[in-house]
Parts: sequence; C-alpha cells; structure tokens
Amino acid sequence: MTTIPILDLKAQYRAIKPELDAAVHQVLESGHFALGPAVAEFEQGFAEYCGVREAIGVNSGTSALHLALLAAGVGPGDEVITTPFTFVATIAAIEYAGATPVFVDIDPAYYTLDPAKLEAAMTTRTRAIVPVHLYGQPADMDPILEIARARGVAVIEDACQAHGAEYHGRRCGSMGVISCFSFYPGKNLGACGEGGAVVTSDPQLAATMRSLRAWGEDTRYVHTRRGFNYRMDGLQGAVLGVKLRYLEGWTEARRQRAEVYARYLAGTAAVIPQVRAGVRHVYHVFAVRVPNRDAVRAQLTAAGVQTGIHYPIPLHLQPAYRDLGYGAGDFPVAERIAGEVLSLPMYPELTDGQIETVAGIIRAASPATTPAATPV
Ligand SMILES: *Cc1c(COP(=O)(O)O)cnc(C)c1O
Repeated sequence: MTTIPILDLKAQYRAIKPELDAAVHQVLESGHFALGPAVAEFEQGFAEYCGVREAIGVNSGTSALHLALLAAGVGPGDEVITTPFTFVATIAAIEYAGATPVFVDIDPAYYTLDPAKLEAAMTTRTRAIVPVHLYGQPADMDPILEIARARGVAVIEDACQAHGAEYHGRRCGSMGVISCFSFYPGKNLGACGEGGAVVTSDPQLAATMRSLRAWGEDTRYVHTRRGFNYRMDGLQGAVLGVKLRYLEGWTEARRQRAEVYARYLAGTAAVIPQVRAGVRHVYHVFAVRVPNRDAVRAQLTAAGVQTGIHYPIPLHLQPAYRDLGYGAGDFPVAERIAGEVLSLPMYPELTDGQIETVAGIIRAASPATTPAATPV
C-alpha cells in the first residue's frame, strides 16, 4: 500500500482538468494528430521559455538526442563524451548516431560531468560533449563550454531533467549549440504520453532537425535527406501548451518542497542535495544520500512511502554495454554515489505533513549518529 507516491500525476490532472480536457477536445475535433497548429504553438512558447530561437517538437527525449547528434555532424567513428551516471537514453542515442560513448566521471558534490577530468578523455575523434543536467541541477557549463570551444567540439545539452533550470542567469537549453528535452509523463513538464524537443538558436541546425524529424521531407514526398518518423503528436502539443503555462509555478513549488525537506532532514544522516553557486535547481529528482541506503529504503517502503534510485548501476557497468570495455573502478565517484543515492517523493502538490512523515522515517532509520555518507 502506497500512501505517499514518488510523484502524483493524478493530483496534477485534477488541478488543471477543465483546461486540459478542452485542449484535447480541440485537437480531436480538428483532426490534426501529427504535428499541426497545437504543436507549432507549443514550439514557439517553449523556445521562448528556454531563451532560444527555435524549438522542434519530437516524439521523445531519446529522439531529441538522436536528432541533435546527427545535426551536429556526429557519425560512425566519432566519440561523444558524457557521464556514466545518467539515464541509459543518453548513450543509446549516441550509438543510434553511429558514434561511441566515452565516459568522464562525475563531480562528487553535484553528480554532473567533472570538467577537471574532461580534457584527459578527449581524443582526435571527439566530436561532441553531452553534459547532463542531472536531477534538474545544471552541469558546470562554463569550463565545459570553454574546453569545447578551444577544441572545436560541439556541446549538446541533455536537459531532459532540467526544464527551467538556470546556470548564472542562463536557462538550461540555451548554452549548448543544441539542447534536448524530454516530456515523458514524469518529467517536470510532462505530456500525456511520450514527447520531447530539440532547441537551438541556429536557424540552419533547426531546419535540418525539422526535416530529419519528418522523413527528410522539405516538400511532400521529396526526401532531401534520410530522415525519421520522430513527429510530436498533436494531442501532446496541446497538452504541453496548457502545462507550459503552469511550469514556473510548479517549479517554484518544487523548490519550496526542497527547502521543507532540508528543514525536516536536518540532524539526520541524510545528505541533502547540494546546490551549485549561481544556479537554479529545478528538483526533477530529490535525491539524498544515506550510508545505509537499502535499509532506509526498506523502512520507507514498509511505511507506504514510494522511493526510487536514480540510478543504481552506472552505465559503464551495465550488462548491455560491457563491450564498451569499461570495468569496476573506472569511474569511482559514479560507482560510490550510485550506492548511496535515494530519491524521495517530489512533486508540486506534496504537503509539509507528507514531508515530515518521510523525514521522520529517515530520522529513525538513519539517525545522525550513524556514520554520515562519505563526505565530499
Ligand atoms: C528522460 C531522459 C531521457 C530520455 O527521454 P525519453 O523522453 O524518455 O526518451 C534522456 N536523458 C535523460 C537524462 C533523461 O532523464
């Protein structure tokens, strides 16, 4: 029996039901089910939200990453750098483009790509760097952009968890040459089904990606390039257009929930998320670190509190990717953090009382007297 879910999409629907139902019905009446005016309108709104010139709606964050890599010229024989502490889609897309993922370990405080280890991983084959704004916290973009510029390598942001996050006043999505978003239902901005977008301020790259997402057609049945069926559904465009109007409010609510967690978790062994100076964290995931993670998680589960682990096995140790040639010990920070993180319930509608309940269970299962999670 779950009494406190890790996220609550039903509560969100109840709050905006009349508007969402009306938008969906409008698409049903219009017959514009693949792309269409609702998608075009959402694209414009989302580009503005990200602070870029163009957004191109696609059918998933994975497709967004694939298109971005192709448009940036990534192909067979190329290497693309990212971290092993991300969702599998990041490296799946690199392989869809025909390239080889190359890992760089994460920073122990913020869990994003460690720029100090970036140069050592670069070779003459490095074609792009894909920093991941993990859990909704921006990667340390300035040094990454600087190294990339010096080496003539493209930076493509994996902003799939970072809608509205900011790094020194710049929105995630506006720093790389192309950036990728997911609108998977559980993301901070979620469709009622699958969805994603690529965003860029480069009109030529935008045109290439618009063409690639719909079979490389610039004119009907004239295929200028080999493309894909990566179109966004009209229904998803309409849903996202409604939800985009609420995103800032929801994001502020998430940030407040994080503050409440910090208050209630003080004096426990749980290490709360550390926020980089000058950034706006949007808490797609609220992950604490506890030394006795699995025991704490079992206690929470027994009390009806749903939790998650993002992610339990770093990608370089995943069975499917053994042939990349990595092994245990290659990325010690990612390996250590993967053993300690625990994602707690996080959504705008979460109440103070629910947070107090979750924190109380953690306090009992992991009091401050047990050795703290490895200091950073
Ligand atoms: C969700 C996610 C993706 C993939 O998005 P989909 O819409 O599920 O294809 C890629 N990268 C990261 C970091 C994600 O969290």
